[in-house]
Amino acid sequence: MLVILSAPSGCGKDTVLAELFNRAGWLKRSISLTTRQKREGEKDGEDYYFVSREYFQSKLESGQILEHTSYSGNYYGTPKTTVDEWLKQGETVILKIEVEGAVKIKELYPDAVSIFLVPPAMSELETRLRQRMSEGEEEIQSRLTIAVNEMKNAVNYDYIVVNEDLGRAVDDVYAIIISERHRTSRSMHILNEAMTF
Ligand code: 5GP
Repeated sequence: MLVILSAPSGCGKDTVLAELFNRAGWLKRSISLTTRQKREGEKDGEDYYFVSREYFQSKLESGQILEHTSYSGNYYGTPKTTVDEWLKQGETVILKIEVEGAVKIKELYPDAVSIFLVPPAMSELETRLRQRMSEGEEEIQSRLTIAVNEMKNAVNYDYIVVNEDLGRAVDDVYAIIISERHRTSRSMHILNEAMTF
């Protein structure tokens, strides 16, 4: 099962995801390629694969990227092979991607479950973006403009979760994933096994 998690920048998506993976170590997280600069505290191969534009372009041209986007002047893309292999093995894979990527994934995998994380209010986003002090003023303004547009796309997602209280947001995302895993259409193999003597 593929799970798309989108949220405007500064919404606390990484914190929610970190808590979610603490709770459910069996979830697989796709690590994207990006051409953006590493932020303080980020690790190559853990948060992203930080790559050059040339490298990104070569992966794109050789068909090794499932979907990609240009966001605030940088490229971001989901590696194809890892995701496909995990799906083949029946794993639940989380994609932390923005709205254009989410549309592309839904086209490729109509069964993908999409969750949009929203802040309690837009003013909260600006505060959080400023507090993390990893972007300059121009980048903050660019991210806020993108955020407004992204919020308009939230109506196309399967689920909306508010990130006001971290524990509650993690509970909600976890509950959605568990419920979706138990859908009859995804549980036929369990049913078949249970019916054998
Ligand atoms: P950030 O620079 O804050 O880490 O990420 C910027 C935006 O790019 C976020 O909305 C994040 O979810 C999105 N993003 C990260 N990786 C990918 C990817 O592989 N594909 C797409 N479409 N978006 C991504």
